[in-house]
Amino acid sequence: MTDLTRRHFTLLAGASLGTLATPLFAPAVLGQGKPKLVVIGGGPGGGTVARYVNKDLKGAVDVTLIEPQKNFTTCFFSNIHVGGYRSFQSITHNYNKVRKEGVKLVHEAAASIDRDKKEVVLAGGKRVPYDRLVVAPGIDIKFDSVPGYSEAAAQIMPHAWKPGAQTQLLVKKLNALKDGDTIVMIAPPNPYRCPPGPYERVSMFAHVLKKKGHKKSRIIVLDPKTAFSKQALFLEGWEKHYPGMIEWQDPKVHGGIKGVDPKTGEIKTDLANYKATLANVIPAQMAGKIARDAGLADQSGFCPIDPETMKSKMDANIFVVGDACIPGDMPKSAFSANSQAKVAAMIIGGELAKARTFPARYSNTCWSLIETDDDVKVGGTYEPGEGKLKAVTTFVSQKGEAADLRKRNYQESVDWYASIVGDVFG
Ligand SMILES: Cc1cc2nc3c(=O)[nH]c(=O)nc-3n(C[C@H](O)[C@H](O)[C@H](O)COP(=O)(O)OP(=O)(O)OC[C@H]3O[C@@H](n4cnc5c(N)ncnc54)[C@H](O)[C@@H]3O)c2cc1C
Repeated sequence: MTDLTRRHFTLLAGASLGTLATPLFAPAVLGQGKPKLVVIGGGPGGGTVARYVNKDLKGAVDVTLIEPQKNFTTCFFSNIHVGGYRSFQSITHNYNKVRKEGVKLVHEAAASIDRDKKEVVLAGGKRVPYDRLVVAPGIDIKFDSVPGYSEAAAQIMPHAWKPGAQTQLLVKKLNALKDGDTIVMIAPPNPYRCPPGPYERVSMFAHVLKKKGHKKSRIIVLDPKTAFSKQALFLEGWEKHYPGMIEWQDPKVHGGIKGVDPKTGEIKTDLANYKATLANVIPAQMAGKIARDAGLADQSGFCPIDPETMKSKMDANIFVVGDACIPGDMPKSAFSANSQAKVAAMIIGGELAKARTFPARYSNTCWSLIETDDDVKVGGTYEPGEGKLKAVTTFVSQKGEAADLRKRNYQESVDWYASIVGDVFG
């Protein structure tokens, strides 16, 4: 990460790296030996906390990162891969540098959390004690929110809302389409990870079809929502770059999504039955199982947090960052997860190593590529307020902007990607 970018993120996140880099140490404030931080989940949320606490507190805290995957493919920029701009390899990262820096990597799933004993129980049965725990498992898919859909059906009608094999399956099916074929996407209901993500993906589908010279292929988006993120910008971009190819239907048009049949490829709504050559079904979502099982989620399926600290409202020794938490006005994004993680790392530094802390500040930007060099963005800064992460400032791209501005947006997103993977994977 360049100094400039690092300063930028530091200022935006409010969790000053400078602060964490020069802590006023009290090496072991909790009992014998070094205090123990355990992190569940090595994505942009958990991975950032683990690296920041380890590096910036200079080993004063013993950090264990529990993450079953040895190779982590990012969901962010997976649409860019779908569009053919990036290889799968370029969005896949490992934890070798993180391990070399001194974080203890456990490549095993956490099976449960014993909150009374302050221990994480691994899938293999081993127990890992903690003084503070960060829970960052991302989302689980609510398969049954779409009638007829299931984990097995996802092998035919991929959601690709969790990265890796699902993304590869989606790309394989996309690249096999012939002119005249139909793509049907079922978009997810709120709240879900990456609000503009489905619509950027539709743009990337269209980009691939257009590049292959398709004249008759169609993309139908069946949405349970009446509006979506950056809607005016996407609709303008679709009309400009892919006229007549994309049809977005809200519930007033389709009348309700009735279900899918993976055997026939059929998707039923109140209005019509669609036969999709490629069906991309993105169901409703909830916090990862480990968080729900530990009693950290509420009836929404996600985990309420204290906006000043990112601590779980259910347990003061546990922090929940990233998609698993209820982030108030902040969207669920990798940028948000990384920003929340920096606040959690700062508070953990304060509690376990008496490092200085500052008021929590958060930020987010979500870029979306509509067509080559035509990239739009939305974002904001957030502070604790009204019991949530409250938007303080917001911005969004405008319709009809100059081409060079849109091109700069794309370059910004490329720079951001390099920065965040540097933050998480070293
Ligand atoms: C198509 C798409 C495009 C996107 N584009 C963008 C974008 O451009 N910009 C952006 O900011 N965001 C984007 N996002 C959103 C972004 O990917 C997520 O918000 C982000 O990954 C959330 O980070 P996280 O750390 O909370 O969860 P995750 O990234 O899901 O990481 C969670 C980790 O926890 C691990 N885990 C789960 N359960 C356990 C367990 N029991 N034990 C141990 N480990 C466990 C998982 O293996 C996983 O590695 C996009 C998402 C999608 C689907």
